[in-house]
Formats: sequence, C-alpha cells, structure tokens
Amino acid sequence: MQLVGKNRGGSSTWLSQPKPKQILPLPAMARVSINLSGESAKKKTDLVVGIDLGTTNSLVAIIDPETGKPKAISGDNSNEVITPSVIHFTEDGRFDVGSSARDMLIENPEKTVYSVKRLLGKSYNDVSEFESTYGYKIIDEDADSLVKIKLGDRFFSPIELSAEILKELKHKAEKHLNQEISKAVITVPAYFNDAQRQATRDAGKLAGLEVLRIVNEPTAASLAYGIGQDKSTQKTVAVYDLGGGTFDISILRIEDGIFEVLATNGNTFLGGDDFDRAIVSHWVRSTDLDETTLDAKQIQKLRLLAEEAKKRLSSQETVSLEFESKSLTISRLDFESSVNALVQETLDCCERAVKDSGLNMDEIEEVVMVGGSTRTPYVVQKVSNYFRSSKIDNSLDPDEIVALGAAIEADILAGNRRDILLLDVTPLSLGIETLGGLMDVIIPRNSRVPFRAGRNYTTSIDGQVNLKISVFQGERDQVTENRKLAEFILNGIPAMPAGLPKIEIAFMLDADGILKVRAKELRSGVEQTIDVKPQYGLTDEEVETMLLDSLKNAKQDMEYRSLQEAINESEYLITTTVKFIENNQGDLTDEQVTEINRLVSALKESIAQGSKDDIQQKQDDLNVYTKPFAEEMMDKSIGKALKGKSIQ
Ligand code: ADP
Ligand code: MG
Repeated sequence: MQLVGKNRGGSSTWLSQPKPKQILPLPAMARVSINLSGESAKKKTDLVVGIDLGTTNSLVAIIDPETGKPKAISGDNSNEVITPSVIHFTEDGRFDVGSSARDMLIENPEKTVYSVKRLLGKSYNDVSEFESTYGYKIIDEDADSLVKIKLGDRFFSPIELSAEILKELKHKAEKHLNQEISKAVITVPAYFNDAQRQATRDAGKLAGLEVLRIVNEPTAASLAYGIGQDKSTQKTVAVYDLGGGTFDISILRIEDGIFEVLATNGNTFLGGDDFDRAIVSHWVRSTDLDETTLDAKQIQKLRLLAEEAKKRLSSQETVSLEFESKSLTISRLDFESSVNALVQETLDCCERAVKDSGLNMDEIEEVVMVGGSTRTPYVVQKVSNYFRSSKIDNSLDPDEIVALGAAIEADILAGNRRDILLLDVTPLSLGIETLGGLMDVIIPRNSRVPFRAGRNYTTSIDGQVNLKISVFQGERDQVTENRKLAEFILNGIPAMPAGLPKIEIAFMLDADGILKVRAKELRSGVEQTIDVKPQYGLTDEEVETMLLDSLKNAKQDMEYRSLQEAINESEYLITTTVKFIENNQGDLTDEQVTEINRLVSALKESIAQGSKDDIQQKQDDLNVYTKPFAEEMMDKSIGKALKGKSIQ
C-alpha cells in the first residue's frame, strides 16, 4: 500500500482537485513570451569577459580591442594572469583570494579552501568519501542537503566561496580595464550536471556578474584554436585537459556552429598534484628523506618543491633543489618513469571516451591539449603517440586556452560577431502546481530552446472529471513564491477511481521562448492545448531577485516540500486504507480492523501536529502492518495505475 511519492524516489505526482467555483473559461489563444537570458546582452556596446573558474587556477580574459585577439588579464602588480582558486578566511572575517591565500595553506589550512569547484552542486553524501582529503571542514548536518564549509564559527556554501573567486577576477579585470564589468561567460567541465551548472551561475550572480552563458571547457578550448569559429566548420576533435587535480577527455563534433559533446571521460582525482606526489615518492625512494618525520608545514613545503622541480623538468633535463639542508635531485627520465602509470591512466580514459563516441580513432581529426600539466613534454609525446594520425594543437598557452575561448564566446554574446549561430537557454524553470501547492518542474532552467518535456500525472479523488492546470515559472518549491503564467482546466475526464486516469502534461518551448502546454488524458483521449496567455517577459533584475530568493530560502523551501509531500502521501494512504477495509471486511478479523483504525488515527493526529519525521514514522507503522494483506488487492486494482511514468 506504499504510495510512491517524489521524496521516496518515485515519479508520480498528484494534481489538486479543482473546486467547481475555480473552473474558469479557457483563455483565448495567445502566446507568452519568456524572457531568454542573453537577450539584453546582444547590444553592441557591452564588454563581456570570459572566465575559466578552475579547480586549481582561475583566469579572466577579454578580446583585446586593439588586436581583436583574446588575451588573459594580469593583476595590477604582476604579470601573472593566473589566480590560484584558493580562498583564505582571514582573522578579521574577510576573504583573501589567490596567491596570498595559497600561501596560507601551510599556515592556516583550516581556514583556507582549495578545490572548492569539486563541491559545487554536491550534497554531503556525494563528497563524504573524499572529505578526509581536505584540510578544511565540510559539514554533515543533513546528508542530503548541499554541503557547507565551516570556517571558524561560520558556514559557507561552495557557491559563496566560488563567488569570492569570481569577485577577485571581476576586480582584476575592472582594474586592468579601468571600467566596470557586469557580464561574463563562465566555463564548466562538459560532464557538469544541471545542479553544478546552476551553482556556477548562482556564484556568478552573487559576485555581481550577469552570467550570459555557461560554456563547456572543451568547447571554449576548441574555440581558442579557431575550431568552430567559422560556421562552415565540420570537425571532430578530442580535447585532452590535464589540470592540477582533474583529468577530462571530451570528444566533440562541431557542425553548423553547434558543439556537440559526443563523449566525456576522465578522473576527478588525477592531475598535476599526483605528478608532484610521484616526485616526492621518488625522493623518498632514492634518498634518506623520511616523510614520516616531517610536520604538516614541512610536508607542504616539500610538495611545493616537488611542483617546482616538475615545472623545471618541462624545459630542463635534471633538477636539484635544497630541502632542510638536503639536496634533492631528479632527472627527466626518473620523472617520466615515476609518472608513467598516471599518464597511462589518462590514455585509458581516452580509449573509453573514443569507444563511447562510437568513432574510430582515424575519425578524430585534431587533439586539443589543455591544462597546465600538458606542459610536461612526456604527456604530449604519449598523447600524440596514442592519437596517431591526429594533429596535435599545443601552440597556445595551456593554462590560458579555456579562458581565451570563453572570451571569444563572450564576444559573440556581446553581439560583436553576428555571423555565429547562438543557442539560447531558459533563465527560469517552468512547471505546474501539484497537490499541496508544490512546484513540479517540467522544463528546468538553463535548458536550451527549443525544448519539449512532459510528465504523467493522475487524480487524487474518485470520480474527478476535471483538473485545473496552473503553469508557473521560478525556482521556489512553493508555487505561491513563483510567477504564475497561466491556468486552464482540462475537463471531460471520464469518472474513474482516483489514481486511474493518466494525464500527460507536455510543455513545448519554441526557439523564441514561446510556451505551449498540452494536457491529455491518455485513457480517453480528452485533450486540451493552450498557448499560454500573454505576459511580458521578466526583467533581468526580476530573474536575479527570484534566484537569490530561492537560494536564501532553499532550506526552508526544502522543509516545506518534504513536509507537504509526507502529508500528501499520508492522506492518500489513509484514503486507500479506509477503502481497503470497506472492500475486504470479510477477510479481516476484528482485531486487525481495530489495529488498522488505531494506526490510521495515529497518523491523522501526526499530520495535525505537522512533524515530518513523526508522520513518516506513523506512515511506516501503518504500511508495515497492512502490507501483507494489502499487497494482493493493490496489485489487482489501482496499484498499476499509480505508477505514473515520466515521458521525458
Ligand atoms: P585546473 O584547470 O585544474 O585549475 P591548470 O590547468 O591551471 O589547473 O593546471 C595546474 C597544474 O599545471 C598544476 O598541477 C601545475 O603544477 C601544473 N603546471 C603548471 N606549469 C607547469 C609546467 N611548466 N610543467 C608541468 N606542469 C605544470
Ligand atoms: Mg582547467
């Protein structure tokens, strides 16, 4: 008798029963225009920067107005274009970002955050296995919610900390250009999911940047090499990106200005840091250096020394460095044999990616080398051997490529290159109201348009003949907090027991952002289609306010949603239990009926009190007790119909 509710992994959702007085005449055919992001950015005068928000290092780049070529921006008192992605929380409660923060990794590891990109859009459950590798504290108060980082006695989300890196880059660009920057393109790994992409966008917003587009890193890298800048390009490329702590291989097909990701593979814990560790191990093996006698500071110092040696080995044959009055030496050959297995692992990932793409090796026309670790000549050599016939692109600075490509994309979005095809995305999610006033998202925000999606629903009350369908836009869990776009009634549903009708709601968003909604009862074929009634698009400020609100209220919203879902499940459970007793009186003993009624009353009381955990407990009690004799009946009747399947 278990009802599959959303928070328990099912996909069925119940629409509220429309009260007769709420039945409205169908709106006249009309169109709603949904404001697509990027619209306002297409004015010619805007300067849009490109940002590579990396795990280890971040950069900001622009198109140089003098040369028309992309260039990475350096800080005001150095020629350094790289900003280490490290954030230190200072004694006086400020954030310090970049090289000076990186120095604090030794002094004050507990308040110095690195690799925060790995935590973006992740729950504690997602990261608990590698938590011990961090010097700072990731908190676990609620395993399913998004992670927070504890710095002193304050808690920060990875979004807030990433925003600090972005603020630093924004500031760097503003100083260099002597003008305010408010728009950016930010890159993410191709495998980033929607939550990670949204988190990146939100970090941009918090940093005061309007994020015109989230671009895949391999796409940016290809653009930097000029691949796909011309609409007539048709090419298949592999992008090999070996950074500080991560390795990504992507196979892209470029055609008609569209970069399609055919396959990705990689290892989120493999990169230049492992090369550094391999050098330390070599020293331990070949000298009397004993790591176990070193304190945390010395270990960190040794690691930095190993990195220094590695970098020098990219242009020298042998390197000797001083550590605690010992001389540590390593030759290029020793280094190569120390990292051979690591490099081989990246090639194994390449093999899997090529296989997944369904291509033959000789169909890959170019290999784009990205990431600081591809400066190691041995890596280039092994990769070119592996991709035999392909042309290797490694003429550009591997640390800068992604940022340079982001700057090109930014320039396109700023409207300076009208010849290139652009695809837009919806800035806010679109969905419908379900039982309990919950928002059920059908088209998630940032979906590329045109987009179609749908889902199946059913009724919650016996004999229900019409359904009110309310369409909303926004990110909050409660529809009252979102923006209502339209409402219509699907009527003429033949009377059936609750749960039996199969109502398919399909959303179709065309390339201009016009939404069409269709509701269809699949058993009877009753159908209603509307072009949603006219609304003016939201302004960018409104979108921003809605996003910030959803961030601010995320915890409260989640609590509201899980309580409401527990109540919905329980109410349905009570209805079906009562029905079950009525229909099966002959087969149940008096004691069984009394016990079921007692458990139902306990559940009702618990609903009145409004504690989610208690409701779930009482629900489980009732389920456990009734399960043995309920299963048979449920199988026969409405059980099958309850499993409304998503048609996405
Ligand atoms: P991410 O994309 O992960 O932020 P990067 O692409 O900036 O990282 O790569 C950083 C890595 O590149 C570090 O491990 C660094 O030691 C390594 N690296 C930088 N310069 C060199 C070099 N000259 N030779 C070898 N490795 C280098
Ligand atoms: Mg990178």
